Amino acid sequence: MQLPDSAVAFDKIDTCLQELVTPQQYRTWFQSLQISEITQNCITFSVSNNFLKEWINHYYQDTIRKAVASVYGRDLKILIATTPDSALKNSNVEEQPSSGRSSEERGECAAPVRQRQQPASPTPDPRLGNPDIVLNSKYIFDNFIIGPSNQLAYAASVAVSDFSSLTYNPLFLHGSVGLGKTHLLQAICHKQLATARNRKILYLSCETFTNQFISSIETGDLRNFRNKYRHIDLILIDDIHLIANKERTQEEFFHTFNTLYNSGKQIVLSSDSPPSEIPTIQERLISRFKWGLVAKIEPPNFETRFAILRKKAHLLGHEVPDDILNFLAENVNTNIRELEGAITKVIGFSVLTESPLDLALAHKAMRDVLNTKSSKITIDDIVRVTTKKFNVKLSDLQSKKRNKSITLPRQICMYVAKKHTSLSLQEIGGYFGGRDHTTVIYAIEKIKKGMKEDEVLYQNVSDIMIKLGKE
Ligand code: ADP
Ligand code: MG
Repeated sequence: MQLPDSAVAFDKIDTCLQELVTPQQYRTWFQSLQISEITQNCITFSVSNNFLKEWINHYYQDTIRKAVASVYGRDLKILIATTPDSALKNSNVEEQPSSGRSSEERGECAAPVRQRQQPASPTPDPRLGNPDIVLNSKYIFDNFIIGPSNQLAYAASVAVSDFSSLTYNPLFLHGSVGLGKTHLLQAICHKQLATARNRKILYLSCETFTNQFISSIETGDLRNFRNKYRHIDLILIDDIHLIANKERTQEEFFHTFNTLYNSGKQIVLSSDSPPSEIPTIQERLISRFKWGLVAKIEPPNFETRFAILRKKAHLLGHEVPDDILNFLAENVNTNIRELEGAITKVIGFSVLTESPLDLALAHKAMRDVLNTKSSKITIDDIVRVTTKKFNVKLSDLQSKKRNKSITLPRQICMYVAKKHTSLSLQEIGGYFGGRDHTTVIYAIEKIKKGMKEDEVLYQNVSDIMIKLGKE
């Protein structure tokens, strides 16, 4: 069968979809939809995040099938895949669409990919020095909410992007997943591209650096590789911690670093841990990473989470009442990626069920997410993470000891256990050396109150929650 031109097909499917759903549904669910592949029997669409993918798969498969059938005159298999951003097609900024096997593997002939026209052109900028990279147009400084948790990282990134001096060289940003490292690195690139027209920038993931290094060894093209990496004005390497355990890549990167540094070029690195905690990394690299500024991004506090939620809702084109933002900011306290998922989900739920955005609806929308989270965590997990963080033993927590270094982690465990497990006050007290339920109530209140007043305590509890969420 002759496939219609994919550009024409996409426009027709798009028009048809707009007729099948309400304008609000279209705006919420289909705005980031693109065609990523068409074969004889199958059409793959991509959307910007996993949540959209699941939602569309669950509720809108039939709608899309109808739209496709009206264009092709027959049923095609529909696949929905994710790209982190609709403008990130063919980029190695983040993950590639997860459409499973490629058309070649399936032995089919693929029509050229057609994407929705973006207002901002997704064409890679040649000054990026890497033809594969298309920056996420949303990762700009203006969209970054500043709070105590990320203030330093933000200010240093802005300073670096001004290029007025090399005060922070290298700039080393570190923090847990989903806290904005990639956003800041790309914001620096955007700013540079807009203001410093003659500078050559190289933004890439550590993985790309490693892969290109390995293939240059395989093809005996090391000179080219070195040329590429050593003749730029600004290099930004995302997730440098992935260099752990890669002896030869570390060696090569050490020389790249020296060459660039010595010729006054700016280096920006991001990592999920501080320099000295990257496993098996050479001492000389650790010391170089610390030459400039090492800035940690902490999990956001309540106010920052609230502000981020409001901003995201605004970007999605909705006004969300404060009590909903409050509820989400209180309950989703792991990372910003999850905050984004939560606000999209609540808005989506309201659009789908055509119900007003109120607190009851938010509770309903978030029920699964919050319950699953609680049920996954056990008291043993809480104790394991907390004792490690405070460097104490379980036997201490269960003992009669009452010095602060023991009572604080014990009270944190009780607080987290009450919040995230289904254990009763008696059971929690029993676990920690047969303590009375009133002791547990006292501990919970103390931590709750303390977290509002004491930033360090707040960060400690948040760190524990992140670790629990990850494990
Ligand atoms: P990381 O690289 O640290 O894992 P990302 O930079 O990918 O995290 O951030 C995850 C998501 O959260 C992105 O969509 C990003 O835009 C958003 N984000 C992170 N920090 C902020 C912030 N301070 N303000 C607004 N959005 C943020
Ligand atoms: Mg990242």
